[in-house]
Amino acid sequence: MAILVTGGAGYIGSHTVVELQNEGYEVVVIDNLVNSSKEAIRRVETITGKPVKFYEGDISDAELLDTIFKEETIDSCIHFAGLKAVGESISKPLEYYSNNISGSLILFDAMRRNNVKNIIFSSSATVYGDPAFVPITEDCPLGEITNPYGQTKAMLEQILTDIYKSDNTWNVILLRYFNPIGAHSSGTIGENPNGIPNNLMPYITQVAVGKLEKLGVFGDDYNTPDGTCIRDYIHVVDLAQGHVKSVAKLKENPGLKIYNLGTGKGSSVLDVVHTFIEASGVDIPYVIKSRRTGDVPVNYCDATKAKEELNWIAKKNLFDMCADSWRWQKNNPNGMI
Ligand code: NAD
Ligand code: UDP
Repeated sequence: MAILVTGGAGYIGSHTVVELQNEGYEVVVIDNLVNSSKEAIRRVETITGKPVKFYEGDISDAELLDTIFKEETIDSCIHFAGLKAVGESISKPLEYYSNNISGSLILFDAMRRNNVKNIIFSSSATVYGDPAFVPITEDCPLGEITNPYGQTKAMLEQILTDIYKSDNTWNVILLRYFNPIGAHSSGTIGENPNGIPNNLMPYITQVAVGKLEKLGVFGDDYNTPDGTCIRDYIHVVDLAQGHVKSVAKLKENPGLKIYNLGTGKGSSVLDVVHTFIEASGVDIPYVIKSRRTGDVPVNYCDATKAKEELNWIAKKNLFDMCADSWRWQKNNPNGMI
């Protein structure tokens, strides 16, 4: 039996395919390459020494999905495919709702039609908004979401919950990721954003490699020890292994489950900058700028539930994350070309 990985050529998807193949799972990928390249699949194959069955196409192509379900023996799906840039989602809400919501509805319908009712969905800590408390447990109430990207995550959680309620032969695992950074230790796959990065780590690595001049730190007057915002950064390989553990969980017919995937440890923007300098040996010039609209001051999780129910913990620390992000960027200054 194989696992259908939507968005498997992307940043988290490619790392997850590696970990799944390393655990002996058969993997089938569908990706329209809107934010990735086929080179990622080739590099995954080089890392694992195993072929990846790849379909280039869109999750909104019902006919293609039927073909895949007919030709492959799929028993579950890990659904990564989606657009993910917060700022872009504010200027292009229709594109985001169409791609992420309509595309997912077509995927879920094709799964139902083909009697594949096991799904792991990439959700996000963004659904907690400015969290009611930290560390955030899965019981924390959902918060106010300030952008269409985040709305698509909350809506898809609700849609999958409603599907499960209507037919409890489905198994649905909603994974709420905190802040994935880092890269595979080979330095051959990693995150490669288009244009100027919005997220902290790719911005830092592009400063390190000389593509950008200096980092802007968005605010140093928050109520935190050094005044900068706190996040729960998690190594992408740990995150990928969380998916492998979730696939094992699906075999228990768990029904509907929600897990935070984070380290449980908060790090400030300046912690990341200083740790990166230490891990890379490269200086990162930075300047303090005004706060970024919509930023949550403090966001980190309680990962106890994933530990107890998935037998999963994040093993890598911030130094590992910085060292691996740097290896990837240094070896691939222009991404996967
Ligand atoms: P990514 O952009 O690197 O990967 C997404 C992949 O999906 C890309 O390869 C893209 O080409 C593909 N894709 C997009 N729309 C598609 C469609 N309609 N049909 C087929 N393929 C399509 O992003 P990522 O960082 O790997 O994120 C993966 C998932 O995790 C996304 O759903 C994202 O929202 C979610 N997530 C990411 C983060 C993060 O910080 N990276 C945090 C929380 C949640
Ligand atoms: N950040 C920053 N400069 C940047 C990008 C991000 O200071 O160029 C800060 C941002 O304000 C936040 C943290 O780094 O406090 C993490 O930002 P990112 O966008 O990576 O993650 P998110 O805010 O979505 O959790």
